[in-house]
Amino acid sequence: MTSNTRVVVIGAGLAGVRLARRLGELGTPALLVGEEEHPPYNRVLLAEVLAGRYAPEVIALPAPAELVRARVTGIDRGRRSVLCADGTEIAYGTLVLATGSNPVLPPLRGLFTPDRVLPEGVHAFRTLNDCLSLSRAVRPGVRAVVIGGGLLGVSAARALAVRGAQVVLAQQSERLMERQLDPGASALVLRHLRELGVEVHTECRVRDVRCLGGAVRSVELADGYALDADLVVLACGVRPRVGLAEAAGLAVRKGVLVDDELRTSDPRVRAIGDCAQHDGNVYGLAAPALEQADVLAESLAGNTAARYTGTRSLTRLTLAGPGSPFDLAAFGETDPRPGDDVVQLADATRGTYRKVVVRDDRLVGGVLVGELGTVGALARAWEGAEPLPDEGPLLHLLTNDGGS
Ligand SMILES: Cc1cc2nc3c(=O)[nH]c(=O)nc-3n(C[C@H](O)[C@H](O)[C@H](O)COP(=O)(O)OP(=O)(O)OC[C@H]3O[C@@H](n4cnc5c(N)ncnc54)[C@H](O)[C@@H]3O)c2cc1C
Repeated sequence: MTSNTRVVVIGAGLAGVRLARRLGELGTPALLVGEEEHPPYNRVLLAEVLAGRYAPEVIALPAPAELVRARVTGIDRGRRSVLCADGTEIAYGTLVLATGSNPVLPPLRGLFTPDRVLPEGVHAFRTLNDCLSLSRAVRPGVRAVVIGGGLLGVSAARALAVRGAQVVLAQQSERLMERQLDPGASALVLRHLRELGVEVHTECRVRDVRCLGGAVRSVELADGYALDADLVVLACGVRPRVGLAEAAGLAVRKGVLVDDELRTSDPRVRAIGDCAQHDGNVYGLAAPALEQADVLAESLAGNTAARYTGTRSLTRLTLAGPGSPFDLAAFGETDPRPGDDVVQLADATRGTYRKVVVRDDRLVGGVLVGELGTVGALARAWEGAEPLPDEGPLLHLLTNDGGS
C-alpha cells in the first residue's frame, strides 16, 4: 500500500468542480476525472442553451486545474485505485464520488432500437450533448412531444416552443411540477405554457414510441390516441448514478449512503451531489450539491468540525423567452395541514401568485409565481427556521421584501 494522499474526484459536474475549486483554494489540490467531452458546465442552465438564449460557452464553469477526461469503469478499494475505460489506473488516497444522476427512461414499448439505443429523434435531457443534439434537430414547425411535466419537462417544453417547435407536453399526473408547486401555482405554469402555444395534456400516459426506419414518427397514448412526433424529449425524472458504488460493495439505497462528514461505508470514499443519500434525502438539486461540496472541501482540508446537516433549499426557475421572464420559486410544504395559517395573493391579470404556509410561528413553505420581490426575505426566514416576528399581519411576508 502506498502512502498516497491524493484526492481523486469522479465526476466533473456541479459538485465535483466546486469541490476541486474549493480544495485548490484551501491548498489541497484534487484530480478530477470526468467523462463528458465538453469542458465542465452549469447543468442548471441547459434549458437556456436549448432556448437559444445562451451559447454553450456562456454556461462553462471556471476550469479546475487538474482535469482528466475519462470514464471510470471500476473502483478497486483494496488497491485504492480507479480503473478507466481507456485502461488507465489512477491511485487515490481519498476517493470522492460525484457521479450525479441518470435520466429515468420510462418503460415504453419501442423506446429502444434492437441494438439498445434510443431511436433517432428521441432524446434525454441531461447533458450538454443531449441539449446540442436537440438544438440541432429543432426548427420552426417541428413536432415535439415532451414526456413528463416536472421541472425538466416544463423547462424543455418552453425552450422548444421559444424555438418555434409545435410542442405537446404529456404529463401523467393531474398537474405540472407537482413536486414543487401547489394547484394554484401549477395552473399558472399551465396557462403560461399554453400562451406560448404548448399543448399540455395532464393525466395522460404515453404507452408506445412508434418508429420508421430507426427514427421516431409518433407516440401513442394509453387511450390509443397517437401524436405525430419528429422529436421526443424524455423528462421523466432522474435516478442517482450509483453503479460504480454498488459494484465496489459500498452501502447504497436510493443513493450512496453518507454520514455528516459525507463518508460512505468506506471511510476513504466520500460522496456528494445527486448520487449521495444523506439522512434519507437524495436531493437532485444544485444548492445541496454545492453545499455538500463546500463542507467536504473543509473536511478534506483538515477541518475536523466540518459537518453537513442537510439543505433547506429553495427551487427557483427562471424561464426566459419572448416578453417578460417567467419566474417561480417554491420551498418547503406548499399544501397546508389543518390548523396552518395560509396567506395568499393572486392576480390573474398579471399572472402572479404568492402563497405562504405558517405553522405556529414558523414559515413552513411557500410558492411564488411571476412576482419574486419577497423571495430573499422569505428564503432567509425559512432557511433560518427562526420564529417569525410577531409584529404586523402575516400579509407582510408577501408584500415586504425585507430589504432584499
Ligand atoms: C436540464 C436540467 C435543468 C435543471 N434545472 C435545475 C434547477 O433549475 N435548479 C436546481 O436546483 N437543479 C436543477 N437541475 C439539477 C442539477 O443540475 C443537479 O442537481 C446538479 O447538476 C447535481 O450536480 P452533481 O455534480 O451531483 O451531478 P452532475 O452535474 O450530473 O455531474 C455528474 C458528472 O459526473 C460524470 N460522471 C458520472 N459517472 C462517471 C464516471 N463513471 N466516470 C467519469 N465521469 C462520470 C457525469 O458525466 C457528469 O458530468 C437541473 C438538471 C437538468 C438536467
